[in-house]
Amino acid sequence: MKLRKVTAASAAVLALALSATACGGDDKDSGSGSGGDKVKVGIKYDQPGIGLKEPDGSFSGFDIDVATYVAKELGYEPNQIEFVETKSADRENALARGDVKFIVASYSINDKRKAKVDFAGPYLLAHQDLLVKADSTIAKGADLNGKNLCSVAGSTSATNLRDKIAPKANLRTNSGYSECIAALQSGAVDAVTTDDSILAGYAAQDKYKGKFKLVGEQLSNENYGIGVKKGDKATVDKINTALEKMVSDGSWKKAVDANFGPANYKNEPAPKIGVIVK
Ligand code: GLU
Repeated sequence: MKLRKVTAASAAVLALALSATACGGDDKDSGSGSGGDKVKVGIKYDQPGIGLKEPDGSFSGFDIDVATYVAKELGYEPNQIEFVETKSADRENALARGDVKFIVASYSINDKRKAKVDFAGPYLLAHQDLLVKADSTIAKGADLNGKNLCSVAGSTSATNLRDKIAPKANLRTNSGYSECIAALQSGAVDAVTTDDSILAGYAAQDKYKGKFKLVGEQLSNENYGIGVKKGDKATVDKINTALEKMVSDGSWKKAVDANFGPANYKNEPAPKIGVIVK
């Protein structure tokens, strides 16, 4: 009698342990922090046409469409994606910590970043440009020396401005480009500098229509890659396969038209995977 009781209790414990194991085995969560069948993807929250969190909590932009396509190829439906904001200066650390599985956030591939993270792609070629008020006389990079400029901390745009384009400009850096746009509107700065793909999105917003213009200088080549944790070659390979498919099945072009069309942004053709334009 006594023996039978013990056996029943053991069986209950064993059943519990088995069901816990089964749950653990089903768990495909990527990016530490929460359980469940989800993937965490780093994006920008404040860049219209690229990565934008809408007031209703939904997301829009070219990077969102690329991220959604890639996630699907990796086995995640849209409702399994958790978008996480990764500001320019936070991207390498977010990957190193494992906060996100991959980052699609106007993230240019360069050697300095490649020392800390790996990249799939590129999936877009953009160029650094200047956004100024519609009546501004600023027409080229050299006109910026002595002027008040705004860009974002941790961006290639800020580094490039300081090192090459206009070392004598008075550059202030914010954590996001939307703060720079507000400073341009108020007159606190004379120009905002970053990728033309991003600036075109702001300029096309209803509230700014007719107020700003892109100067049209191609001050750099920005090869957008998808960042993954250093050493995660398997994910890089899978993402590259997904990106190739996105171009060949027409989805890349569809995403370009949907997101850049309204801003009248004339994008470059789809890049070849692994080919960086210097
Ligand atoms: N593409 C540039 C970069 O990765 C500028 C845009 C951004 O800050 O995200 O730094």
